[in-house]
Formats: sequence, structure tokens, C-alpha cells
Amino acid sequence: MEPVVELNDIAHVYVTDREASLAVEGIQLKVEPGEFLSLVGPSGCGKTTILSVIAGLLQPSKGVASVNGRPVTGPSPEVGYMLQQDYLFPWRTIMDNALIGLELTERLYADTRGNVQNLLKEMGLGDSGALYPSQLSGGMRQRVALVRTLATDPGLLLLDEPFSALDYQTKLQLEDLIGETLKKRGKTAILVTHDLSEAIAMSDRVVLLNRNPGRVHRFFDVPENIQQAQPFYARKEPGFNELFHEIWGEMQSIGKE
Ligand code: ADP
Ligand code: MG
Repeated sequence: MEPVVELNDIAHVYVTDREASLAVEGIQLKVEPGEFLSLVGPSGCGKTTILSVIAGLLQPSKGVASVNGRPVTGPSPEVGYMLQQDYLFPWRTIMDNALIGLELTERLYADTRGNVQNLLKEMGLGDSGALYPSQLSGGMRQRVALVRTLATDPGLLLLDEPFSALDYQTKLQLEDLIGETLKKRGKTAILVTHDLSEAIAMSDRVVLLNRNPGRVHRFFDVPENIQQAQPFYARKEPGFNELFHEIWGEMQSIGKE
């Protein structure tokens, strides 16, 4: 099967009026259909830059990014992006926030609206459609952001630290909910997180990046038993601690380079 994402020798230089800095270099990556991949690495190693390239928000200085076999030329409805901040519009109801992608892509019909209502229900927000974002907790708002992202049915989801503003308990609950929702729908996902245990618990594969410039340091395959378990229980699976310590050790060595 053709990979959903293929990055071929991607490099990016950010140019400001004062300097040019090489953010990432030689990035080589394939993500298979249905795979859940995490990107981890020190702050500033280029994780967000890589997601922006895949999302078509940033044209890389070098190399080619492809999604579903076609070179990325700009944002596409095939790719959904979810960020740490939920960016819900405060003046719109939850339902109207969730519908915005369908509105913008002119696909708002009775059946797509019905899908969104079902998604809200699935996320435990069935009764919240008429409320406004200010009336919701942080965890609920992130669930609305997920519904909004899934509403247009993208095959690929890019998740940039979507849990990092949440308290620990909410974060664990959302990891399970999002992991299950994406797996059930056969979505392909790339998660950026600074939480190594989250990366291992949610993923099929973890990519460790190093910095200055950001490069792929190493790929780690997550053992099958950990992949199959829900993120909360994955942390108790045999092999979890060993993998955590292995990646942790590598991260420490990067820090000293
Ligand atoms: P991460 O998400 O891993 O923390 P980023 O992709 O945000 O890293 O950033 C990678 C590097 O590129 C950092 O050194 C950062 O300072 C730099 N950078 C990111 N965005 C810009 C920008 N818009 N202009 C200039 N430099 C940037
Ligand atoms: Mg970032």
C-alpha cells in the first residue's frame, strides 16, 4: 500500500530580516495507512515545522512532501490539524464551531450535519451543542476541536501537543478517547508531544528528533501488546518501561551533544 505521508529529504530555513536559520534538515519519513506515529524531541527541534510542511502551511526550502501519493501544494481537506490551543470562536455555539470546516468547504448538508451531531454525542457532548465555548472546560473544548477536525473526514490527522494544556486526569481520558476514535475510523495520525510516555502509549512508532538542525535521530517500534492496549493501560504493559528508558536514554544523549 502507498504511504499516506512521504517526506523526502526535507529541509527548511526560516528567514527573518536579521538572520536565516536551518530548522530541519534531511528529514526522511514514511507513514503507512492507519499508522499512529509520534514525533518527540527537544523543544525547537522542528516538530511543528514538520507538521506545517505536511499540512501544506509551509513550503519547505528543500525536498518534497507527499500526502496520498501527491505532492503537497497547500492545505487540503485530506489533512486535519489539531493544536494545543483549540481556536474555537467564542461567538459561535459548540455546534456551529464544529460545523465550520463543512461550511468553509461547502459540504454542509443534512447528512454531514447529522454526522457532526453523532460525533458530539460520541465525545460526550450530545447536550452541549447550543452552549458557547466559555461555558465548557478545557477538556470539553479539546473534544469539540476534535469533532471539528473530524467533521470533514480527513484521512490524516496532525496533532500538535493537543493535550499539553490539560490537567493530568483529563489528558489521560482524552488520550484514550482520541486514540480509540481514530483507530475505529482507520485514521492515520501524527502526534507531536513532549510527553514520552504519551508518545509510547498512543503510537505504533516513535520518531526521536535531535536539534540544531532538527534531524531524525532514531525510529522506535512500539511492541504489538502496547499498540493494542488503550493508552491508559498501555503504560502497564510488559515492555513499556524498557522502551521508555531506552528512548529516555537516547534523549539524554542528544541533550549533551
Ligand atoms: P518544535 O515544534 O520542535 O518546538 P519548531 O518547529 O517550532 O520546533 O521550531 C524549529 C526551529 O525553527 C526553532 O529553532 C525555532 O526557533 C525556529 N522557528 C520556528 N518557527 C519560526 C519562524 N516562524 N521564524 C523563524 N524561526 C522559526
Ligand atoms: Mg512545536
